[in-house]
Amino acid sequence: MDFNKKTVIVTGSARGIGRTIAERFSAGGANLVISDISAEAAETVAGEIGNKSIGLKADVTNQDDIDALFEKTIKEFGQIDIVVNNAGITKDTLLIRMSEKDWDMVLDINLKGAFLVTKSAAKLMMKQRYGRIVNISSVVGLTGNVGQANYSASKAGLLGLTKSTAKELGARGITCNAVAPGFIATEMTENLPEEAKEGFLSKVLIKRAGTPDDIASAVAFLASDEASYITGQVLAVDGGLTTV
Ligand code: NAP
Repeated sequence: MDFNKKTVIVTGSARGIGRTIAERFSAGGANLVISDISAEAAETVAGEIGNKSIGLKADVTNQDDIDALFEKTIKEFGQIDIVVNNAGITKDTLLIRMSEKDWDMVLDINLKGAFLVTKSAAKLMMKQRYGRIVNISSVVGLTGNVGQANYSASKAGLLGLTKSTAKELGARGITCNAVAPGFIATEMTENLPEEAKEGFLSKVLIKRAGTPDDIASAVAFLASDEASYITGQVLAVDGGLTTV
């Protein structure tokens, strides 16, 4: 897909799914901003990807970091066309054992972080009368999950944010969609108990775990000019998991 002359910010892209998404945009010729909570990690990955890539520190819960992220991106590339809200964490445990601290942390990073980044992006994109926002939710935002009350709530909240953003910004040429990954083989899922992994996989119609590339393909499509008539949608990329 062609992303020549487009500038893309991917949050939490120093590793995992975010990095693969970023690499896909770079392969399409985009100006790329690798943004992550660790400056060193972001700069290292941008250096590895090379061509038209910069690494910038941004904790998505920190307004000053986000302001700096947008200012530096504009200074470097002059515009911001595509934003992918990918940064996310889990703090799993059963509801009755879940601390208020872990609830707040997950909601802050996964949901409030996306709100703060989207707000900054929207201001610029409205002036440009062009923009693509893609939020990385999760199938558990659609279904809920044992041990993930905080995470599921944050990912369901992202769907509300996605649809509201689409409604507010559609008239300005800005689309906002969500991708809901299913069970994807990454460091985040590596540490799940074996029975939880088997439980997920037994329900996957395609009979394999997803890959970060599966997610990158969906994100690239929704961020492309070819998807200009798609907004406010949730695309489950889950091998059919939520069909069962
Ligand atoms: P990951 O490997 O843990 O990567 C997440 C990245 O976000 C890390 O680089 C992390 O930095 C960074 N990060 C954490 N807190 C941040 C903050 N406050 N500000 C900015 N960056 C921050 O996760 P992943 O598996 O690739 O998941 C990426 C996204 O997909 C997440 O939103 C996740 O919820 C979603 N997802 C994943 C799966 C799956 O199966 N893996 C399924 C559904 C949805 P550190 O390494 O320094 O913590």
